[in-house]
Amino acid sequence: MKRPALISATGGRCTLVGAGPGDPELLTIKAAKAIASASVLFVDDLVNPAVLEHASPRARIVQVGKRGGCKSTPQAFIHKLMVQAVLEGENVVRLKGGDPFIFGRGGEEVEHLREEGIEVQVINGITSGLAGLSSLGAPLTHRDHAHGVVFVTGHAKPGDSGTDWPQLAATAAQAKLTLVIYMGVSSLEHIGEGLLSGLPAQTPVAVVQNASLPTQREALTTLGELVHTVQREQLASPSIIVVGDVVQGARAWAAQPQRSQKLA
Ligand code: SAH
Repeated sequence: MKRPALISATGGRCTLVGAGPGDPELLTIKAAKAIASASVLFVDDLVNPAVLEHASPRARIVQVGKRGGCKSTPQAFIHKLMVQAVLEGENVVRLKGGDPFIFGRGGEEVEHLREEGIEVQVINGITSGLAGLSSLGAPLTHRDHAHGVVFVTGHAKPGDSGTDWPQLAATAAQAKLTLVIYMGVSSLEHIGEGLLSGLPAQTPVAVVQNASLPTQREALTTLGELVHTVQREQLASPSIIVVGDVVQGARAWAAQPQRSQKLA
């Protein structure tokens, strides 16, 4: 049985939509349809404005992101705006970069609306952690190199001690796991140092900034050289950091004979 997308007496409803990593063509058909039918859109800062071309000219578009010089709209205020709009009978689309349920606080928003009696429909998007390495032609899993993948944030919630990087590195080494690190650039030294205590210095690493966009830049390096490489190449947020032997599958990696020998 299909569950109704909502339960507001006014006919309002809310859909949490993944806008994908950046390339507007990576949007799902379902996401494009939801955007087209929205009367109000609350848009995060990592969403490519090009996806808004699907929106109706009559739709109200509210930017709630923190980039571009504006201060971020507090999360509690976003919750309030969304609830209010649904209760007023709007067809609300909450647009988030990548996948709405991979970091980016989509889970908190669903919980909050549910507390208000509003059920939210969720439409997946391609998460940047997938798009980053794929854009270099390498997989996140490969039978020869990785049994699984860990999506992990480099940026803990205030008051949370965050990831135990040495422990994670030891687990990744033992269980052959690829690490995909979101929001890692600003704490790179700490992360790199922690990972080096459990993984070899020659472990391949890819850093991909603005994955899937025309502005994409990337660097292929090793764990031992990671901090230095990111500084030298001036890679910045938003970037995905992928750590593990699967990175050897990147087109450019194979083209570096020195590097291939080192890992052979
Ligand atoms: N929900 C999003 C992640 C939000 S957290 C998703 O599924 O992709 C924000 C972090 O995502 C950034 O700090 C960065 O690490 C990553 N990110 C988002 N878009 C990116 C892009 N186009 N290229 C590289 N990293 C990106």
